[in-house]
Amino acid sequence: MPRNLVVFDFDWSFVDQDTDRWVFEVLSTPLRRVLQTRKSGGSQCTPDVVNETMADLHAEGFKKEQILDALRMLPLHPAMKRAVLGLKERLADTTFLCLSNSNEIYIGTILEKHSLTNLFSEIITNPAHWDAEHPSLLHIGRRLPATSPPHGCKIGCLANMCKGDELDAWMAANGGWEAWDRVSYVGDGGNDFCPIVRMRKGDWALVRKNMELDGRVKEEGAEKGLKVDVKRWEGAWEVEEIFQTL
Ligand SMILES: [Mg+2]
Repeated sequence: MPRNLVVFDFDWSFVDQDTDRWVFEVLSTPLRRVLQTRKSGGSQCTPDVVNETMADLHAEGFKKEQILDALRMLPLHPAMKRAVLGLKERLADTTFLCLSNSNEIYIGTILEKHSLTNLFSEIITNPAHWDAEHPSLLHIGRRLPATSPPHGCKIGCLANMCKGDELDAWMAANGGWEAWDRVSYVGDGGNDFCPIVRMRKGDWALVRKNMELDGRVKEEGAEKGLKVDVKRWEGAWEVEEIFQTL
């Protein structure tokens, strides 16, 4: 039986939202604005900006349960859930890997809500933990700490994580690329371009239409020597259809 690896970006790929923005959109419009202003300032890495705004949320008196409840109501399309569970049932030895610039508390909470805690064999993302003294304060860190040497990615990954390096490192620890008959990658963001550039002919990139990744594939794909088969999708139902042809 062929060995399939399915790699999922999380925000706007596995789920139908941006986890970082969503928590503030549910709880506080003024803090959602603060997040936007900080992001458009452009000088900080995404997890740093979210971490800073989480501290503001705590200072305003929001509780851990409110943050968790916000995450539990974040939209996961039923067709996406059906897509992964259907594939798992049909091709039982499919391995699912999550590669995300969100954080482990957000992703873990959402997966638990949907009874999908055991779907991914590994979740590669930013670390997060609740403060020991202030139980409603969430700290979000960087996958690659600011104190580590920079990853040196030339494709444009953020300072906290080079998704291409992360995928290569996971491969090295899991039998190498040759251990997998086909690797499929579901993504939407500009930082999903780096890993798909490293994928092989015959692998599948499921690229969400009209998002940043789609633009990069069109504009830089040929120049960067993209080899992977690109399959565009807009809604989760189309991912389900594509998975049925794996
Ligand atoms: Mg995304």
